[in-house]
Amino acid sequence: MDAVAIAQRVRAGELDPGEPLRDARERVARLDAQVRAFLTLNPEAEAEAEAVRRRVATGEALPLAGVPVAVKDNLATRGLATTCASGILEGFAPPYDATAVRRLRAAGAIIIGKTNLDEFAMGSSTEHSAFGPTRNPWDLKRVPGGSSGGSAAAVAAGYVPVALGSDTGGSVRQPAAFTGTLGFKPTYGRISRYGLVAFASSLDQVGTFARTVRDLARVSLVLMGHDPADATSLKAAPPALEPDPARARALTVGLVRETLEAGNTPGVLDAVDRFRERLEAEGVRFVEVELPSLRHALAAYYLVATAEASSNLARYDGVHYGRRVAAGDVLTLMERTRERGFGPEVKRRILMGTFALSSGYYDAYYGRALKVRRRIADEFAGAFREVDLLATPTTPTPAFPLGAKLDDPMEMYLSDVDTVAVNLAGLPALSLPAGFEEGLPLGIQLIAPALAEDRLFDLAALFEQVTEGAYQQTAPLDGR
Ligand code: GLN
Repeated sequence: MDAVAIAQRVRAGELDPGEPLRDARERVARLDAQVRAFLTLNPEAEAEAEAVRRRVATGEALPLAGVPVAVKDNLATRGLATTCASGILEGFAPPYDATAVRRLRAAGAIIIGKTNLDEFAMGSSTEHSAFGPTRNPWDLKRVPGGSSGGSAAAVAAGYVPVALGSDTGGSVRQPAAFTGTLGFKPTYGRISRYGLVAFASSLDQVGTFARTVRDLARVSLVLMGHDPADATSLKAAPPALEPDPARARALTVGLVRETLEAGNTPGVLDAVDRFRERLEAEGVRFVEVELPSLRHALAAYYLVATAEASSNLARYDGVHYGRRVAAGDVLTLMERTRERGFGPEVKRRILMGTFALSSGYYDAYYGRALKVRRRIADEFAGAFREVDLLATPTTPTPAFPLGAKLDDPMEMYLSDVDTVAVNLAGLPALSLPAGFEEGLPLGIQLIAPALAEDRLFDLAALFEQVTEGAYQQTAPLDGR
């Protein structure tokens, strides 16, 4: 059952909200020793299901009534450990819920647990976690992508129909592609960042995972809306997310030439071709589009993201939250706490970001990156005068083996080559499962103009309809 079906049956009184929770718990107990999607399970979930039962009985129309949801562990959950997969947040339980989490609960969802990630969402494989890697449910020797790898794996493994992640440079879309799930990153400002632990504030957005287009729309819509607690939250009314395949037939899609060059596996290029053919047969128009500045997107992203991270992560000093390594004076205390609390990738980012911002280098690095960012946004705007949507591979390859890129940060960063530009420009995008290569899922990324999320969902719904959901299955874990 998908989330829409669960909520409908719970509201109709045909299904007790405790049942989907029991099923999810049973599946996690049976399979998660191998996958390791979860860092923490919520001991209050049964009590929350009880509360949903009472609310349903009073006739509250809850859009996610009784739906079990997994939440990335960089979103604050009241009284429940929030670690960011970092040693430095050891023992920290926030005194409040992130707005996204509060909205889930208000909609009747049940948070079943917190999922693994790369430490502070810095990474592309979920291997940079202080608690060990998550494995890809499609092949346990491979990574699920990152940084929201735990949430992607929880959906792919069939534990939950929907999950929350965060996307700063691709951390929802890339793991969605690697696990055969749908992943959505909204327009910057659409979903409140309040309670999302900051990595790079001008790029960070909460995003969503699901196995069906209607579920992805349902959970995303629940999260959207203005929030005075986040100064970058948009005041615009949320889009009408009622995916309509018929409406998609009138769209023109631009295939981005720069993302279809060398570096893609044959399976990825083949998936793009077949995506085009199937949708052309439905009347969708395809053209080719050039975005020359995309070649500089990765370099600009890794300057902007690290610069902002170096500033955001200054707050973990052993005084305010989490772990403290005691010392005779406060400076030594801070130094030792940071030395022992942060993992190697986080330290690398802080160093790079501090360097990019340091006097004498600021203009050459950070300043230049901001100019590239501006130009990328302008090129996107130009393209959207000709087309309604853009399409690219989500990633140039399917999921790679555990350990394959751990010793080479540049190789790891390259797996985000097709996703980071979207964050630099603040645009909405969606990754949908669109093929397999040697048994591993592949994803296609759709990009829309700011605030035009509805087009992403319409086209995804049309593709889902013509392929009859062939690429949206649960990973074949049970037989193993
Ligand atoms: N993989 C990218 C990085 O390491 C993106 C991370 C993210 O979106 N949180 O920065």
